[in-house]
Amino acid sequence: MKKQEEFEAAISKVLELLGEDPKREGLLKTPSRVAKAWEFLTEGYHEDPEAILNKALFTSSNDEMVVVRDIEFYSTCEHHMLPIIGRVHVAYIPNGKVVGLSKIPRIVNVFARRLQIQEQMTEQIADAISNSINPKGVAVVVHARHMCMEMRGVQKINSTTVSSALRGLFKSDQRTRSEFYNIINTPAPSNF
Ligand code: ZN
Repeated sequence: MKKQEEFEAAISKVLELLGEDPKREGLLKTPSRVAKAWEFLTEGYHEDPEAILNKALFTSSNDEMVVVRDIEFYSTCEHHMLPIIGRVHVAYIPNGKVVGLSKIPRIVNVFARRLQIQEQMTEQIADAISNSINPKGVAVVVHARHMCMEMRGVQKINSTTVSSALRGLFKSDQRTRSEFYNIINTPAPSNF
């Protein structure tokens, strides 16, 4: 694949610029490993989250809040290309349709596996759910650690950034909102 070769050449050049010798034994396969790693870390660009959700929609009379919490994700910040590590909580209130539960973590991964800004990823997850399930409300909360803050710059170790996107009833109805925050803030049972 031509793209793979170009990527490897670029990484070799970066190694040289860092003062390394890309020909030394330990680094010989590094450009090809880095190329493969980045292909995986950015595979979300080739996936359509709304198509994934639309394929798993079911008619349902349930109108109670559905919450999928503590979805772990690994993303990459678009400013420094360093890791963002965190958890996402997603909730929605069905309006005639529900989605297969496994699809929620799946679309989190679609957006996480792109170069990202945390706030933008939060909005994108909420929008994708809004657009395909058309629920009475959707809420997305993301807690994340940014390696570009922890490994460099201000070096604020263990600081967490929280972002949220609230739509429909989660925005307009205070009781719905508090119920959601109660659910995501209650520690999971210890056998989980
Ligand atoms: Zn950054």
